[in-house]
Amino acid sequence: MISGKNIIGSKMSANGEKTYKTFNPIANQENEWIFNEATTAEINEAVALAHEAFKVYKDISGAKKAEFLNAIASEIETLGDELIHTYCLESGLPEGRARGERGRTMGQLKAFANLLKEGSWVEAVIEKAQPTREPMPKADIRKMLFPLGPVVVFGASNFPLAFSTAGGDTASALAAGCPVIVKSHPMHAATGELVASAIIKAAVKTGMPNGVFSNLNSSGVEVGQQLVQHPKVKAVGFTGSYNGGMALYQLANERKEHIPVFAEMGSINPVIALPSALRESGDMWATKYAASITLGTGQFCTNPGLVLGLEGEDLNSFALKLSEEILKLQPAAMLHPNIHSKYMEGKEVLSTQNGVEVLADHKDAVNANTAGPTILRVKGNEFLRNHILHQEVFGPFSVVVSCEDAVQMEEILNQLEGQLTGTVLGETEDLKTYGGIVDALQEKVGRILFNGVPTGVEVCSSMVHGGPFPASTDPRFTSVGTSSIKRWVRPVSFQDWPNKFLPQALQDDNPLNIVRLEEGTYCK
Ligand code: NAP
Repeated sequence: MISGKNIIGSKMSANGEKTYKTFNPIANQENEWIFNEATTAEINEAVALAHEAFKVYKDISGAKKAEFLNAIASEIETLGDELIHTYCLESGLPEGRARGERGRTMGQLKAFANLLKEGSWVEAVIEKAQPTREPMPKADIRKMLFPLGPVVVFGASNFPLAFSTAGGDTASALAAGCPVIVKSHPMHAATGELVASAIIKAAVKTGMPNGVFSNLNSSGVEVGQQLVQHPKVKAVGFTGSYNGGMALYQLANERKEHIPVFAEMGSINPVIALPSALRESGDMWATKYAASITLGTGQFCTNPGLVLGLEGEDLNSFALKLSEEILKLQPAAMLHPNIHSKYMEGKEVLSTQNGVEVLADHKDAVNANTAGPTILRVKGNEFLRNHILHQEVFGPFSVVVSCEDAVQMEEILNQLEGQLTGTVLGETEDLKTYGGIVDALQEKVGRILFNGVPTGVEVCSSMVHGGPFPASTDPRFTSVGTSSIKRWVRPVSFQDWPNKFLPQALQDDNPLNIVRLEEGTYCK
């Protein structure tokens, strides 16, 4: 079933001489499938097909595009256990996680299908002409959102399904009306190919234009770089490392025509553990945070990598209980030896900084690629002084910072870089008492939580999975939830345009029956 080939449009091809294999981190050996690196000719072919497909796809109705997205979901389901099995062999993640992530992926596709069927997402605004307005007559002006064109999506290593081939970036871009070219993640190329074959089947079954989707295999940076530089590519979606995201962002800005790169990069997701929370429920939070820090072997972008508390007995007991709980959990394999070695390096660098105490370092991680969860503790003044301690260590890792007082805690928050999430643990009244801290936290994050754990990102219309740089390259957008469609569109105004030549969403009699802003009032 797995071809080891690049999948372009509705035909299969692979000419690259360079080959590579994926890796099973639990068995600590390569998987059997062989993949060919995409060639320049294949890259050009995929983009040319996407460019041609865009001319047709952008005008296909929301209802037809919804059929396509729903068909992708059902074709993914039809892949059955082969997909689950392949996912597990390539990621080391357990079967339950694979099934859960498949459900999330299908759910995302269906959510976008529903958005398209309803149709109001195009934000139609109508302001009719006022020919007798004084001192100047006003023209008839109407606007709505239109797709940007072909989008390149980089599959993420840590979500082989939900943030990869048919993941959130692909689903939102296809929903917006943009053809997609996936640069598949080399760590799960076989999983990617199975999903790509499902997308191509769905495209053929629902009559979508050839080239609406392509999947290019590659294990080096060149293919992604060529795609981002290609003049017919109009936007990029990325989830991964700071270095990777920034390299692509810079390449896009060096193009003659600049294009947006929506890169979701690092985040340490600060948690403010206020005295009331630690006094009343310190043990309960320690147990919950031990589970959150180790969830998915810590390979979540929302992993809580920093806990700030006020120094004293309650914070000490919390830190010790957190360490005790984390040592009870069985260490698990990371996604890939490279990610594991980066984890080991990062943990070593932070653990050996001045003033850092290693409270927990699981020594039972004896199997290859297994990550021992780690908890460090450091005083607030040392954390403020040493920015190495602010770095993300991707894995089951967290630093507890004991702050002298609330002023120092606020100072630390002001120094932090942008984050995906920030969490406050405390009582409701604390939000007023510690208002300065709460404001400082909100300034830094895309999602602020009260009394919870940041891992677990709901896919819904109100979700923001993004945040100020470097959490993402554009804090105005989310990469999870139906609002993520807004990354792939641009507004166009029509002035004095004849009604019958306007897009249906803007025509006088509202044939799509969508919610529109007409003369300042939302109505149907
Ligand atoms: P990555 O190194 O950023 O790679 C992600 C994708 O981007 C891969 O397809 C990679 O291509 C491509 N890429 C990377 N650098 C590039 C460049 N300079 N030019 C063009 N393409 C480039 O991330 P990863 O392999 O998933 O994991 C490595 C580290 O990233 C992890 O250890 C972790 O620290 C971080 N990470 C963070 C998150 C998060 O959500 N915060 C998620 C995943 C990973 P090739 O692999 O084909 O070269």
